[in-house]
Amino acid sequence: MNSFRLTEEEVNYLAEKYPTPFMVVSLDKVEKNYHYLRHRLPRVKVFYAIKANPEPAVLTRLAGLGSNFDVASEGEIRLLSSLGIPGSRMIYANPVKPPDSIRLASQAGVDKFTFDDESEIPKLAENAHGARVLIRVQVENKSAVVNLNEKFGVVPELALPLLHKAKAAGLVPAGICFHVGSQSLKADAYGRALRMCRRLFDQAACEGLDLKILDIGGGLPIPEIGQPEPDLDAMTGSIRAGLDELFPDVEIWSEPGRYMCGTAVNLVASVIGTKLRGGQPWYVLDDGLYGSYNGLVFDHWTYKLEFFREGARTPSVFVGPSCDSIDVVARDLPAPALQVGDKVLTPEAGSYCASAATSFNGFQPAKTIVYEDNVAALRQKAVS
Ligand code: PLP
Repeated sequence: MNSFRLTEEEVNYLAEKYPTPFMVVSLDKVEKNYHYLRHRLPRVKVFYAIKANPEPAVLTRLAGLGSNFDVASEGEIRLLSSLGIPGSRMIYANPVKPPDSIRLASQAGVDKFTFDDESEIPKLAENAHGARVLIRVQVENKSAVVNLNEKFGVVPELALPLLHKAKAAGLVPAGICFHVGSQSLKADAYGRALRMCRRLFDQAACEGLDLKILDIGGGLPIPEIGQPEPDLDAMTGSIRAGLDELFPDVEIWSEPGRYMCGTAVNLVASVIGTKLRGGQPWYVLDDGLYGSYNGLVFDHWTYKLEFFREGARTPSVFVGPSCDSIDVVARDLPAPALQVGDKVLTPEAGSYCASAATSFNGFQPAKTIVYEDNVAALRQKAVS
């Protein structure tokens, strides 16, 4: 999997134009990722999970390619609506929703919802009467970095009783959904989930429920420090074979998040201070744990830091700019001797970085700039 990566020259050029920290997204790479998924899983309708990266330029590009969208809140629906994307292209896939948000979603044209408890049924029935609903079931998966099956999903035995109750309340029981967990490193859990869902579809047919949709959620991985390169060909091949064997006639949806933008964005930060602590170099960056590197806390993530200086490498500590000592980005990371003003590049920063960054201490989250809007000027500079 080739990630988008800025050259040193590009970093320096952009850093003259924009204050660091900034994110650089390659929309062409996002598009490649989208096409790869459509090519490898041709029967699967994509609902991009915008929580991973809600950058408007990304949403507009994906909308133009025909993608649909997974939303988790009123704010995400409003954002897509402001870009002219109709509710009919959205699924509200947060299983528990405030009643007012369901009403707003319904008014915006959203007619697809997921749920995983009986308590959601009256809220949906009252505020989105007649909507299609998918029941979210639990899937066990030890090879996912982020477990999404403790807080979410019902045990399989409860799936059909809840769909019956939804039907009795005036909703349309349309299908079943699952999420194997984010950054899932193998396809096994998808296979187990597909077999479990097949049994539920068969049982549903016996009980007079005509389920039409299977939603296989997100979970596809991106390259990660300390893990073998994900084999997406193998994973998508296995998912596709499972779908063709077990669900040849069912409409299949998916909600990829991390995969879509993770490899399409670089973060550029600057060294704003240097210290020597107990003989060890410490570098203070203008972005930290409360900003783009928040995945250290929220996303079980370790970030790559790349440098543009040669020389012997010493185990060094990298910290963020805030006044909190938890704000450590990396410890004992071999690094060349750096100076104030040096740039630090973090590739694969496209998912759950910008979207979860805070402005703690008044440090504003890194802005995203579009690579393709800047390359022309860059090439021009190279020629002159
Ligand atoms: N769908 C739902 C309901 C989610 O909660 C998430 C992530 O939290 C996603 C899709 C996206 O998952 P991923 O980023 O693993 O592809």
